[in-house]
Amino acid sequence: MTNSARFLIVGPQGSGKGTQGVLVAEAFGVPQVATGDIFRENVKGGTDLGKQVQEIIEAGHLVPDELTSELVRDRLAQPDAAHGFLLDGYPRNRGQVDHLDAFLEGRGESLDAVIELVVPREESIARLRQRASDQGRTDDTEEVIENRLAIYERETAPILDVYRERDLVLPVDGVGALDEVTARIFAALAERGLVPNGDGAAAVPA
Ligand code: AMP
Repeated sequence: MTNSARFLIVGPQGSGKGTQGVLVAEAFGVPQVATGDIFRENVKGGTDLGKQVQEIIEAGHLVPDELTSELVRDRLAQPDAAHGFLLDGYPRNRGQVDHLDAFLEGRGESLDAVIELVVPREESIARLRQRASDQGRTDDTEEVIENRLAIYERETAPILDVYRERDLVLPVDGVGALDEVTARIFAALAERGLVPNGDGAAAVPA
């Protein structure tokens, strides 16, 4: 049993972090907060935010930090995130790490673990191509995929150094069957004493 479950899941596009993140969040009874999903919902719903970010997302560029961090702060301020959350797709660069640090510090909180899904570039690209034909996401085109992976390697992978220094990073081999990878993630968390309480409900009273 664990008193808090504040996790990040980090990995290249196509690493399966969305799918795995949902499973971890459900098991620990915390919300999965995926910035990419939130942006896409806003684009789909035609909200002001959606209109602001649509072109940026379609080009595979990063939405400005201030806008993204504000979105995450608002989401984490909701009651269901009081005892934990799993962030997917945020922070994505050094500036966002600083924003998140300041936000959590202000609440007297800190992260419990950063799950790093390790998947080689070629494997990510193959999976993204597959997803492009399965789901038709507008940012899964060949050129935009390259762009997003380049941004990952240049801006996002380095944030792992920051979290490694804090001894928070749990590297997990992301190649293999979905349930094998899930089992590896739970094993890595358990080694840190981070274990869900069995029924998928929050380990602490809400
Ligand atoms: P994802 O589904 O995580 O690949 O995100 C899809 C798109 O949403 C990205 O290519 C960015 O345009 C935008 N996005 C998602 N998360 C962030 C973030 N933390 N910072 C900036 N842009 C983001």
